[in-house]
Formats: sequence, structure tokens, C-alpha cells
Amino acid sequence: MKINDDFGKLPADYVFAELAEKVKRARKLSEKRIIDLGIGDVKLPLPKIFADEMEKAAKETGKKETFRGYPPQSGYDFLKNGIVGEYARDGAEISEDEIFVTDGAKSELGNVAELFGKGIKVLFPVPCYPAAAESNVILGNDVVYLPTDRENDFIPVPPYGKTFDLIYLCSPSNPTGGAFSYLQLKSWIDYAISSNAVIIYDGAYSRFVESGGVRTIYAVKGAKNCAIEIRSFSKSLGFTGIRCGFTVVPKELGDLNSLYKRRIGARFNGVSYISQRGAAAYFTPEGRKAAEKRINFYKTNASVLKIALKKQNLWYNNSCSSPYVFVKSPDGLSSDGFSDLLLDNCGICSTPARGFLFDGNYVRLSAFSTREDIFEAAERIADLRL
Ligand code: PLP
Repeated sequence: MKINDDFGKLPADYVFAELAEKVKRARKLSEKRIIDLGIGDVKLPLPKIFADEMEKAAKETGKKETFRGYPPQSGYDFLKNGIVGEYARDGAEISEDEIFVTDGAKSELGNVAELFGKGIKVLFPVPCYPAAAESNVILGNDVVYLPTDRENDFIPVPPYGKTFDLIYLCSPSNPTGGAFSYLQLKSWIDYAISSNAVIIYDGAYSRFVESGGVRTIYAVKGAKNCAIEIRSFSKSLGFTGIRCGFTVVPKELGDLNSLYKRRIGARFNGVSYISQRGAAAYFTPEGRKAAEKRINFYKTNASVLKIALKKQNLWYNNSCSSPYVFVKSPDGLSSDGFSDLLLDNCGICSTPARGFLFDGNYVRLSAFSTREDIFEAAERIADLRL
């Protein structure tokens, strides 16, 4: 038997699986109630409109007249219609045959690399969400990391003079919260076109972008000639457990659009009618309002955490477009050291920067939590003796 040796290049555990174990252990051993701000999973129940729509859809599947089997491979028209309308609101023209409804962003970030040749050179600005880089390692691709720095708010700058086949960009970024401006994205688009690269744009947090900001790469001139966008309803609608998202492969990318269709034919049997009905409720005034309220709730949580960090004179990202707070460790502490200190002294679970493939001394706090836990966590941080 020959196994894939590239698995040997990965850490033994996926960072968030490791964190889940750590929280479980701490909950058993600690006298303090452990507050989990480590894994970025939503904590509040679904807004009622989404749950109601899915309940209705589930009932339809129990009747002869409205039962449905396999969904259309690239998604139901009712959902794709809504997505087209949302792009138009965000200043981009996307057609239904460029949209592929998916089970979320994580699998897609790796799947999309299958469109390209084996052993391609792939660029990841870091810190970054690790799943896509790990998928490329498993595929045997040549993964290159581009460190970013605090002085630039962790927004990467194109490495002019070097070439890559694929470039992964994420905006707003997990974990740093940095959101690209129009001109920053335009510089990457120009670089990608001139070096014959394709950008894989991870917009999992695009609905967190403050109004007036860039919510899709396709709002930037030239993007349809060089970029695939991957989006998710996980964090904006609370669908981490429901599973629904979409990927856009513009027709301007030539064969890639039809190859994507072909890939899905071979590899994927679609997303459940129930999930798609739930997601489609977002494209109604009531659904949009419910999602925005929830997003603002989590962003307010982030602001509460920042007040406590400010009191401690710690540096943190000041992005208003993110549910995450990226914090510099106090002088003399590594990222793991600070993460351990938060767990041992405050009962707060955080994610050390190494989880985001970055060796700077930072930790990420997730604001996807209840208000009660966020206030409690902020008080514990403010009282910490550093
Ligand atoms: N991309 C980023 C940047 C993320 O942070 C996450 C999840 O945390 C994902 C993608 C995966 O999201 P999904 O739940 O749609 O798989």
C-alpha cells in the first residue's frame, strides 16, 4: 500500500481539533468556568426566519407533491437568483451560470485547487485560516507563505518579481480582521493578471465589512479575469452546522468555469433543499435585517473585548469589519505562552498565532459568543495582572 506522504508535512492535529480537546480538558480540571473564545464557531441560535424557512422546507419533503431528491448540481435557481441580486447590490455583475452552491467554504478552498495541475506553486499571505493551505499540502502543491506585518495592518502586498499559479486572499481576514481596500485589491488583481495567476478570494466574512467597504472582489475592475470567489453562509447567518455557501467561477476564466461544472459532476451531489431554502431567506428584507442584527451583535462583542485589552495596554487589530480580535502578546510572552496565561489565569480559551501558520507573538480571541460570556471574559482580562 502506498499512502500519501504529504500528510507527513502537516502538524499531527488540525489546530481547531487540538483547541477543542484543550477546552474539554480545561473544563474538567479548572475551578473557573471556561469561556471558549478559541474556536470561531457561532454561539447564538439561528434567527427565527431562517429556522422557520427550514422547518417549512422539511415539511415539504414529507409530502408526495413537494418531495425532492437530489438537488440540481450547481444549486436551486431560487437561491442563485438571490445571490445574483446580492452581487448587484454590492456593485458586481455575476450570472447564475457562474454560481455553484456548496456545502460551505472549507471544502471549497481545497477543492478549487483540483482545477489546476499537480505540484503548482501556491501563495498564502500569513497569518491565515489554515484549512486551505493544508489542503494544498495534501494535494502535493508547493505552498509558499508570505508573512505580513502589523505596520500594514497585516494587509499583504504583492511580491513583485515572483510568480505563483494560485494566490489565496481572505478579506476580511481571519484572524487579523484586516479588510482590503479597493486599491489594495486592485494591486493584487493587476499583479495576478500580469503574472498569469488565479486569485482564490475567501469572502467567508464579507458581510462583516462595514458599509462603504469592498464586499466582493468582483466590485474591483479586472477581477472577473483572474479571480474565483468562495463565500459561506456560516458566519453571516449562523449556518456553521447547517452547511451552505457558494463559489463563483466567472466565465471570463475560460475553461475553468466548465471544468468546475465537470468537477462537481464527478465529486459532489449538491446541498440539501432544506439548507438552500434557509439560506435563500437571507435575500428578503426580513432575512437581511436578522442577519445584520446578528453580525452587529458579534461586532459589538469584539468592541467590548477591545476595551479590556486597551486597559491592559495591549495592541489589538482595530478593524470594525471582523468578529475576531487579534492581540499582541505582552512583552516577553510567546503566542502559546500568552494563550496558556489566558487559559490558566482567566479561564479563557484563545487561539495562538501558530494556528494561523504565523510565528508572530499574537493570539486570536473570537467574539462569536454570548454577551454574558463576553462581559465576563472582558472583566477577567481587565483584572489580569501582567
Ligand atoms: N474561510 C475562513 C476564513 C474561515 O474562517 C472559515 C471558518 O472559520 C471558513 C472559510 C470555513 O467556513 P465554512 O463553515 O463555510 O466551511
